[in-house]
Amino acid sequence: MSAKNRFVTLISLLLLAGFLATSLVSYSVSVTLLKRGLADSILPLTSDNIYSEIQKDLIRPIFIASMMASDTFLRDWVLGGEQDVDRLTRYLAEVKSKYQTIASFFVSDRSANYYYGGGILKQVRPDEPRDAWYYRVRALHEPYELNVDRDMANSDAMTIFINHRVDDYNGNYIGAAGCGLSAVTVAHLLTTYEQRYQRHIFFVDAKGAVTFSTNNAKEQQPLGEIEGLHEIAAEILSKENGSFTYVRGGETFVLNTRYIKELGWRLLVEQSMEPEMRLLRKTLLINLSLCLVIGLIILTLVQRTIANYQQRLERLAATDKLTGLHNRHSGETLFKQALSEATRQQSALSLILVDIDHFKQVNDQHGHQAGDLALVVCSRIIRSCLRESDIVCRWGGEEFLALLKNCDIEAAFQLAEKIRTTLERETLVWGTSEMHIRCSLGVAQRQPDEQRESLMTRADRALYQAKENGRNQTVRSNA
Ligand code: GH3
Ligand code: MG
Ligand code: MG
Repeated sequence: MSAKNRFVTLISLLLLAGFLATSLVSYSVSVTLLKRGLADSILPLTSDNIYSEIQKDLIRPIFIASMMASDTFLRDWVLGGEQDVDRLTRYLAEVKSKYQTIASFFVSDRSANYYYGGGILKQVRPDEPRDAWYYRVRALHEPYELNVDRDMANSDAMTIFINHRVDDYNGNYIGAAGCGLSAVTVAHLLTTYEQRYQRHIFFVDAKGAVTFSTNNAKEQQPLGEIEGLHEIAAEILSKENGSFTYVRGGETFVLNTRYIKELGWRLLVEQSMEPEMRLLRKTLLINLSLCLVIGLIILTLVQRTIANYQQRLERLAATDKLTGLHNRHSGETLFKQALSEATRQQSALSLILVDIDHFKQVNDQHGHQAGDLALVVCSRIIRSCLRESDIVCRWGGEEFLALLKNCDIEAAFQLAEKIRTTLERETLVWGTSEMHIRCSLGVAQRQPDEQRESLMTRADRALYQAKENGRNQTVRSNA
């Protein structure tokens, strides 16, 4: 792998890692914030709202039942031998209509009569399963219990009963009084919440059995049997308030729990994080796509800039700074290419070696900068005398090499002479003085299959001969 490719790969990896890291970190922060927002504020708030609503609807009947249990009329009537049933019936009907409960009742422990607003409904019996509640209340340590049951006095409608123990003035148990609230009202309340806020709401009793639910959970279903809650059911029931996260059917849920002392039930508010998660995932995807596009643009720019600089550097490295011609290093490469091209095409290739005469004197007499000017003029003249396809390079200090493709010795000699005479005619002005530059040239044509060194040596020898013969002339090598 080249250094350039390694650099671009490194930048790609850094960009990719950077973009991925920022996108994923912001995604995970958003998920955490979402979870925290739901668990710490949104669901507890919902729970508070529901609590204050049910307080009106559920806790009021508890007060009514408690009031009935301490009512002196009721207790006196029972202690007086349950005479004149009408009076109690009127009392119960009055409670029912005044407080708009759907049921009001009293069960006497002595007679086992079940009184309601319409008279005596029946007699409770220990062997009757539907009367089990009464014997449970009779053995109860707490003053009352909540019981979701069907109301026989009201076409078996689902009812939440508040069953309150009634004691005489000496604290002896004499019966159970209470009222009922339509379960439909509570269910309706919870359904409204669910529809409005897309949250599941359910109640579980102290044992963890579902009493009300807007979820798919069935009534009386133990909490631990609800999908996703199996592992946390025990923890939910052990805490007064709690917040939990769990996965059900691939969706993450946040659950808030709250113990409602008056009811002895727990209120559970559950919300799926899926809609928000979907939004976050979409944002993550958009972020990543953006990063990819920006990354690709940056990489393209980097690659282009590098390629540009590389080209400029290569050009700089191959060019002689003073004359703008190919330098010796580049010239050697081009020389090799020209030789193999000539071999392949079996075409003629000639060389002209140019060396400025007594150049040292130019430097000595006019200074180094004047010498530089002479070099520039000389290079321009050589270039102008040759074709575009001919290669000219600065071979040494004041030595130039021209490679003439498809050119035999005769034509090369003519061109060399053209260079020499053009330079001879040129007058260089340097400050107040004028300079005249001369040069000697050696010309050689490549023999079939001749190697570079041999060809070069022959051109060099011809140049030496030109110097020997008195300079300012062209000598050709005759192989
Ligand atoms: P001859 O006719 O035998 O070639 O004599 P000459 O003086 O040209 O040859 P010689 O090799 O003795 O001197 C070449 C001089 O060219 C020496 C060096 O200082 C000068 N020279 C080489 N490169 C540069 C350059 O880039 N600029 C200038 N101004 N002078 C240079
Ligand atoms: Mg020289
Ligand atoms: Mg010289």
